[in-house]
Amino acid sequence: MQTSKPQAAHKTIQPAWMQSSTAKMETELVAKYGESQKPRVQRGLKQVGEFWRAEDGDAAIFEDFTRTNFAGDQATLDTMFNRYQSQLEQLGGHMHEINRAFRQQQDLDLGPVLPFDEIFGGYDPSAHVQDDFFNNKLAFIVLLNFPLTTLEQRLHDGPSWTRRQWAEARLAEQFDKRIPADVNLAISQAGSDAEQYIAQYNIWMYHVVDDKGQRLFPPKMRLLSHWNLRDEIKADYTDSQNGLAKQRTIQQVMERIVTQTIPQSVIDNPGVDWNPYNNEVKPAAMKDSDAKTDKPVTNTREPDTRYAMLQKTYFAARKADPYSPTAPTLIDRRFDEDREIPEARVKAMLEQMLSSPLVGQTAQLIQSRLGRPLEPFDVWYNGFRPGSQYTEAQLDEMTSKRYPTAEAYQKDILNLLMKLGFSPEKAQYVANNIIVDPARGSGHAMGAEMRSEKVHLRTRVEKTGMNYKGFNIAVHEMGHNVEQTFSLNEVDYTLLKGVPNTAFTEALAFVFQGHDLELLGLPAPDAKAQAEKTLNDFWGTYEIAGVGLVDMGVWHWMYDHPQATPKELNDATVQISKDIWNRYYAPVFHKKDVVLLGIYSHMISYFLYLPDYPIGHMIAFQVEEQMKKTGSIGPEFERIAKEGDVTPDLWMINATGRPVGPEALLEATARALKAAGGR
Ligand SMILES: [Zn+2]
Repeated sequence: MQTSKPQAAHKTIQPAWMQSSTAKMETELVAKYGESQKPRVQRGLKQVGEFWRAEDGDAAIFEDFTRTNFAGDQATLDTMFNRYQSQLEQLGGHMHEINRAFRQQQDLDLGPVLPFDEIFGGYDPSAHVQDDFFNNKLAFIVLLNFPLTTLEQRLHDGPSWTRRQWAEARLAEQFDKRIPADVNLAISQAGSDAEQYIAQYNIWMYHVVDDKGQRLFPPKMRLLSHWNLRDEIKADYTDSQNGLAKQRTIQQVMERIVTQTIPQSVIDNPGVDWNPYNNEVKPAAMKDSDAKTDKPVTNTREPDTRYAMLQKTYFAARKADPYSPTAPTLIDRRFDEDREIPEARVKAMLEQMLSSPLVGQTAQLIQSRLGRPLEPFDVWYNGFRPGSQYTEAQLDEMTSKRYPTAEAYQKDILNLLMKLGFSPEKAQYVANNIIVDPARGSGHAMGAEMRSEKVHLRTRVEKTGMNYKGFNIAVHEMGHNVEQTFSLNEVDYTLLKGVPNTAFTEALAFVFQGHDLELLGLPAPDAKAQAEKTLNDFWGTYEIAGVGLVDMGVWHWMYDHPQATPKELNDATVQISKDIWNRYYAPVFHKKDVVLLGIYSHMISYFLYLPDYPIGHMIAFQVEEQMKKTGSIGPEFERIAKEGDVTPDLWMINATGRPVGPEALLEATARALKAAGGR
C-alpha cells in the first residue's frame, strides 16, 4: 500500500540538476528579453521543471529547449497561441471524427453489430496524444509560455481576465498533468472492476420473503442494486394492496447492503429464499429460474466486498496524485478541475437545499397525499406528476403522422427552431449544421470538435413512425445540437468551445425538451402541471443532495485513513450516512439512524461523481427561469451558449446575473407549493 505524501513523491521525479539549470536559464532569458519578461520566464521554467523527467533529456537538452522555445516578445507569443489553437482544433476534431466513424455501427440502426465492430467502437485513437505531446515536447512548449492556473485564481481573477487570457488558461490546462500510462490503466481497471461487481449485484425478489414466508414480488423479478430497487419503490406507490409492504421490504434489503449484513448467498441467487428482516436463509421453496447455483445455503454475510471495491478505486485514484501538482487529490481534481466549484461552496449549496424550510412543507404535502406518516423510503416518493390532457396514444398518433421517418424530422428542424424564437436566418444556419441519423438506442446528440464538422442528432424512429417518447427525446437532443453548434462555431476562441460541464449542456437541452408540446402545436403545460414538475425536481434534489454529501464525506474519510480495512470503511460509511440522515432527514421523517443514503451504486465505482446530480438540478432551474424571464428562447439561448467554457459561476453570472446556487429552484418550489395546495 502506498502512503507517501503527493509532494514527497513528486520531488523524487525531478532530476537533480533541475534547480541549477533553471537558475542559469532564468538569468540568460531575462538578459535576452528584458526585465519585463522576468515573471513569465520564472513561471515558465517552474512549470516545465515540474513535469520534466530524466528521460526527457539531460541539463543541456533542458537548457537548449527553453532557450529555443521561450516566446519572449508579444508577436511570437501571438503566433504561437494562434497556431496551437488551430492545430489543437484540428487534432481534436479529426480524432473525434475517427471516433464517430468507428462507433457508427454500434450507434446507428444499420444492421447487426459484429464482434470486430465492438473493438472499433471501443478504440480511442487519442488515447496516447497526451504522452506523445510530452515526448515530442509540444506540451512543454505550452507549459513554458502559458500560465497554469489554480481554481482560486480562475475564480478570483477570472472575472477580470480578457477572453484571450481565458483561452490561454484553457490551453495550459490541457497539459496540467502527466500521468504515466500504467497509472491511468490502474485507475480504469479499478473502475471497471467495481462496475463489474455492481453489474452483478442483483436481488431475486420472488425469493425475498416476509416473516410469514409470503412472497410479495412476482416470479423472475430480478432487481439490480440500487437502480432497480429504488425504481421498484417508486413503482410500488401505485400498488394500493401490497405497495407499502413491498417498499418496506426493499428498504430492509437496501439497509442490509449498506451495512453489509446481507448474506453473501442471496446476491444474484434464485436458489435461496431470504427474509431480510431476520436474515434467515433457506433453500428456495419455489423455483422461477433455471440459473445454476452452487452457493451454500448459509446466512454468512458479504465480507465487506462493497467497501473493498470502493477502497480499490481510492487506491488507484491516489496513484495519480503525485503527477497532478495543481490538484493533488482526487477530491481536488473533481471539484477544482471537473466541476470548477470549490468543495466548500458545493457543500454549502447542498446544505442550503437540505435545510430549507420548504423541505418540511413539501413533506407535509406528500404526507397528506399518502394519507400516512412518512417512512424513510419516501425520499423516493414519485407522486408529483405533471399529468396531461392528452394520452400517450394520442400524442403517438400526432408524432408518427408528422414524422414517419428520420428525414421527415430533419426537414422540420428549421420550422421547429423558428417556433422556438430563432430568426429565420439563425434557424437556417443551425438546421444546416445538424445531420439526423437513425439511432440504434433511444437517441443521443453527438457534437463536433472542429468547425468544419457538423453535429449529429441520433433519433429512434419505429417502422410505424416516430412515437411521442422518441419525439420528446429528439427535441432534447436537438437542444444539445443547437448548444453544440453555437458553443463551437460562434465562440470567439475555439480553445473556449463548449460549456463549463455536462450539467450546463443538459440544462440547455431541458429547456428545449420542456417545450415539446408547443412544438406539436399543443398548449404549454398549465401552472398546475408546472408546479407538480417543480415539486418533483425539488424532492429529487433534496434526496440526492444528501447522497452527494455522503459521497464527499466518504472520500475524505478514505484520504484521512489510508491504512483502513474494508470493515473500517464500512463502519465509517454507515456512520456518515447516519449523521447526514440525522441532521437533514430525521427531522422530517421522524426516524433516526437510517442508512439509506449510502445505497447508491455510483458511490462504489464512479469516483466521487454523485454531487453532480444535485448541482445539475440547480443549474437546470437557473437556466429555465432565465428563459422564462426573457420570453423568447432563441436569441437568449444563443447568447448564453456562446459564453463557452469559463467557470460555472462566471458562465451563470453572464447568463442570469447570479452565480450557481439553489435559489432559483427554491423560489420556484415556494411558488409551486402555493399552486399545488401546500401552505
Ligand atoms: Zn442530454
